[in-house]
Amino acid sequence: MGKQKLLERYPTLIRMMNYEEVVWENDYDRAMNPNTFTIEETYDAEARLSRFSSYLKEVFPALQKTNGIIESPLVEVPAFARTIDGFNGRLYVKCDHELPISGSIKARGGIYEVLVFAEKVAMVHGGLTEGDDYAKLVNCRELFAQYTIAVGSTGNLGLSIGLMGATLGFSVTVHMSADAKAWKKDLLRSRGVTVVEYEDDYSAAVANGRAQAAMDPRCHFVDDENSRDLFAGYSVAALRLKQQLDEANITVNEEQPLYVYLPCGVGGAPGGVAFGLKHVFGEHVHIYFAEPTHAPCMTIGMMTRLHDAVSVQDFGIDGITEADGLAVGRASGFVGQMMEGMIAGCYTVDDAFLFDSMRKLEETEGMFLEPSAHAAVKGAHIWKQQRGTHIVWATGGSMVPDEERYVYRQMFK
Ligand SMILES: *Cc1c(COP(=O)(O)O)cnc(C)c1O
Repeated sequence: MGKQKLLERYPTLIRMMNYEEVVWENDYDRAMNPNTFTIEETYDAEARLSRFSSYLKEVFPALQKTNGIIESPLVEVPAFARTIDGFNGRLYVKCDHELPISGSIKARGGIYEVLVFAEKVAMVHGGLTEGDDYAKLVNCRELFAQYTIAVGSTGNLGLSIGLMGATLGFSVTVHMSADAKAWKKDLLRSRGVTVVEYEDDYSAAVANGRAQAAMDPRCHFVDDENSRDLFAGYSVAALRLKQQLDEANITVNEEQPLYVYLPCGVGGAPGGVAFGLKHVFGEHVHIYFAEPTHAPCMTIGMMTRLHDAVSVQDFGIDGITEADGLAVGRASGFVGQMMEGMIAGCYTVDDAFLFDSMRKLEETEGMFLEPSAHAAVKGAHIWKQQRGTHIVWATGGSMVPDEERYVYRQMFK
């Protein structure tokens, strides 16, 4: 279908071309349900993460207190909720910005995919078996040094892959788009990671990384647009959230539904979490993906059902936003198709909202999240009248250096 036809059929696109904030509600009955992923893969990922816990505890002191499990707290934010006029439910933040090792939601999928690769190499060439104490992997650095891990990234995925990969001993190359923050590149280089920079956007960085990796049989390419491992790693979050809600005596049912707002870039992270949540909570969870008005690739892909066959650039939308974790022009087709039967909808957020929200959250709760994460907050504004439990998925922020926070705060005004 040509652009003109699409604009006629989906007039919301015209508003999106003008960078207006929009809401798109899904009608589930049109779902294709391609069944490309199963919950067994989620349980498999959970088990693998627990096999690695003794190793992770050994190499990352921050994981001592959780026994090698990478998890974040769920925190109620009543003072912040009061800044939302007429908010009816209870508001929580899922603090993935505090996730150990890399301070973003990518510490779920990204680290998991590196562990999958490490386990494979160690089992084939290092004599590792499933029943072993994985702490012995500290002795495999020389083996891992013969292998390369490559990834294309807007920033946080590169950080997670780079920090985990380098710790294990792999040689890591991160292909980064021009809009990636300098401090992330500097941090990676300080850990011995090779950073290749691209003037083009994120898709170009991924395409180049993928092509280079394909030429090297000892190179594993982390494919953000298509990876099942990433998706599996993210999906484990839902099992852990269920446990946290239980511990907090929060029930999820018809009277007390769960609303979850997830910032969306290419779609893997929110998609994986959504997949798990839908399995755990069924019809009582309502999941919305949040995107910047300047990079609404998933909203366009879902609305038109064209998924990765369309990009924001096709509609003259520039992809330029301060929410660098969400600065993606084309969504994952694999994730988009699966989400047709799972998410309640998508919405877009103006950058100005992000900075306003950053100020309010710091003032009321003393909590700093990077701009991308604040896209989730808008959902609590849009669906404020719904009773029940609302969760803002805070996808990143704790590793943002003080100088950068200062720069952001100047934008509050
Ligand atoms: C990567 C990222 C997201 C979105 O994840 P995708 O898998 O790209 O959809 C959201 N917020 C932050 C801070 C991120 O780094």
